[in-house]
Amino acid sequence: MNLSNLAVLKSVLGNMIKRDYLGFTLFVTTICNLRCQYCFNLENLGKGTDDLTFEEIEKLSNYLPPMNGVLYSGGEPLIRQDIVEISNLFIQKNHFKGFIIPTNAVDMENTLLKIEAISNLNPTPEIVACCGLDVFEDTHDRLRGKGTYKKVTETIQELVKLKQSKKNISILINSVLGKSSIPQLNDFIRFARTLNPDLHSLEVVRDEKIQIYDGIFHGNNKALNTETIFQTMNSDDFDIVKQARLLIDELYRKEDILYGLYKLRSNMMTDLQRDTLLYNKKWPAACMAGRTGFVVQSNGDISVCENLSPLGNLRKDGFDPIKIIKDRGGAQFQGIQNHACDCAHYVYVKDMLEHNFPGALAKYLTQK
Ligand code: SF4
Repeated sequence: MNLSNLAVLKSVLGNMIKRDYLGFTLFVTTICNLRCQYCFNLENLGKGTDDLTFEEIEKLSNYLPPMNGVLYSGGEPLIRQDIVEISNLFIQKNHFKGFIIPTNAVDMENTLLKIEAISNLNPTPEIVACCGLDVFEDTHDRLRGKGTYKKVTETIQELVKLKQSKKNISILINSVLGKSSIPQLNDFIRFARTLNPDLHSLEVVRDEKIQIYDGIFHGNNKALNTETIFQTMNSDDFDIVKQARLLIDELYRKEDILYGLYKLRSNMMTDLQRDTLLYNKKWPAACMAGRTGFVVQSNGDISVCENLSPLGNLRKDGFDPIKIIKDRGGAQFQGIQNHACDCAHYVYVKDMLEHNFPGALAKYLTQK
């Protein structure tokens, strides 16, 4: 979550000994002002009529275990009218130290207004504005909507200005990669650097569909994924993604004493994503989903991650998400331990690597 120096080392060391919840993902709304073609949540986007109310989120906050912070998701999180009040609730009651806020950033006025208001609540928590910007205008506009690329770059430029006076804001450019991104990827990374974000991350487009019903696995990321229309990258493409991630490390982390660790992580991350997606290989350690974090959908459904079927619902089963996961998650945890659902989701791969670093590194080096 933290983009500052030493964050990776602190995170790796901390996570190796800590087995507590680190944070959770909260889908705050199904409303979105875009319909990006590759959105993993496209079929759930709507009018927000079933979204958890502020009062229901307040009940949820009563049951949250001590954790570092929240990753908002949606829909477009900043479209939610009371997102500032919800953030304040988490600061006051749960003492959150970080808010990761993905945004499509096309509505500049709203983005600036809400990010500034959240940053004004308290100077301590880090507010990470993750702006989606894909490679380059043609691809971005084709997949996300005409004219959106220009709007996002303008918003990022204004956020960078805002950051001058708001030290608790960090700006991350997040680029979702498909086959069409590959030829221009390195040029794009150099261009993105000129916008002056704090960091740039590359996510491989997520079009896996993994579901578990009644505790039985009905498929893995290949079996149910009949429409792999975006994830068509081959091994050579992943080599370019790896070079691109290493370029990001060089452009943003070169002076960092942990530069070598960042580079190692970029290598491991890309190889793992490639091996999972192309060769159905197993991760070197079990996923931490449900153990270090969990997901609350906008309708109150609780799951260990976005890919697996809900275990219960806050409205029907009480507002304690940990109880729901502990009471009903046995079969899913068993499957996770058996690597039945290993996927290529950046956040979970990173979490698994950081929690199992020495063992995962040893396996990575010996299997290379
Ligand atoms: S590997 Fe983790 S994130 Fe991926 S589907 Fe399995 S539990 Fe979910």
